[in-house]
Amino acid sequence: MGVCPSARMALLRDNFTGLLHPWARPEVLTCTSWGAPIIWDGTFDPAVAQREALQQNLTIALTVFAVGRYLEKYLARFLETAEQHFMVGQRVVYYVFTERPDAVPRVALAPGRLLRVERVARERRWQDVSMQRMHTLHEALGGRLGREARFVFCMDVDQYFHGAFGPEALAESVAQLHSWHYRWPRWLLPYERDARSAAALAPGEGDFYYHAAVFGGSVAALRGLTAHCAQGQRRDRELGLEARWHDESHLNKFFWLHKPAKVLSPEFCWSPDIGSRAEIRRPRLLWAPKEYALLRD
Ligand code: UDP
Ligand code: MN
Repeated sequence: MGVCPSARMALLRDNFTGLLHPWARPEVLTCTSWGAPIIWDGTFDPAVAQREALQQNLTIALTVFAVGRYLEKYLARFLETAEQHFMVGQRVVYYVFTERPDAVPRVALAPGRLLRVERVARERRWQDVSMQRMHTLHEALGGRLGREARFVFCMDVDQYFHGAFGPEALAESVAQLHSWHYRWPRWLLPYERDARSAAALAPGEGDFYYHAAVFGGSVAALRGLTAHCAQGQRRDRELGLEARWHDESHLNKFFWLHKPAKVLSPEFCWSPDIGSRAEIRRPRLLWAPKEYALLRD
């Protein structure tokens, strides 16, 4: 695998890589067919990325939804570990979306970091909570969130930070390789296959299977992404359809049509249930235990 010829162009195009050694990881794919870097531990210099980001005086937003029992179960640890690892030293604004603003834990924030709470309605089905995020994010990006942030990461709450997640992850649009699927052949990937769905991918389509628990990019790129996904979900609902993996199916369709500018290796969002693997050196986010029976009605 190794580095494809267009990797150097991708390095030059990208502002926040600190990406110096894609060839430092010859055992994994470090570049997509369209020239976007796939960042693995050791392929970037976090100090360079940090300096580049500070020079641009960025504000970086991190959005997370915590509705129903997900709030008590996951939010405090997500935020506490984000303070230890997410964009440390940068200006950060958290956006927590919940139906119970009063129940949001008070987490001590470092200087230059603040937390905003936005009230959302509680959908009855967990699938709808998950899918409604695209519409809510779209609206938020058109409002204060979009005005105050230069880059935004949107994440699931059922995970916690375990290693540095810094500005090397920033780009115009960013997708996360799904830790359970990154080694699978393309034909096995769990894309939506019903051709009537807006999320459908035909046989032979699809680059990677991306995880909806982490995506990011500029405000403009994410406005486009969230509009696409929300619209696809609405269209499907009108036809009585629901894509196989909900918002994630639509996200995968979006990134097939609009290739991400940067791809995060599974090290950035790893499932400990998979066990240890040689190529997973330093996980940045870890999936929290699911315990769906306690969380989902
Ligand atoms: N979520 C929530 N309450 C719910 C269902 C979902 O807050 O009742 C949010 C939460 O941020 C969660 C995300 O939507 O992490 C996606 O749902 P989930 O993590 O259950 O999906 P999975 O990762 O299993 O696909
Ligand atoms: Mn999740």
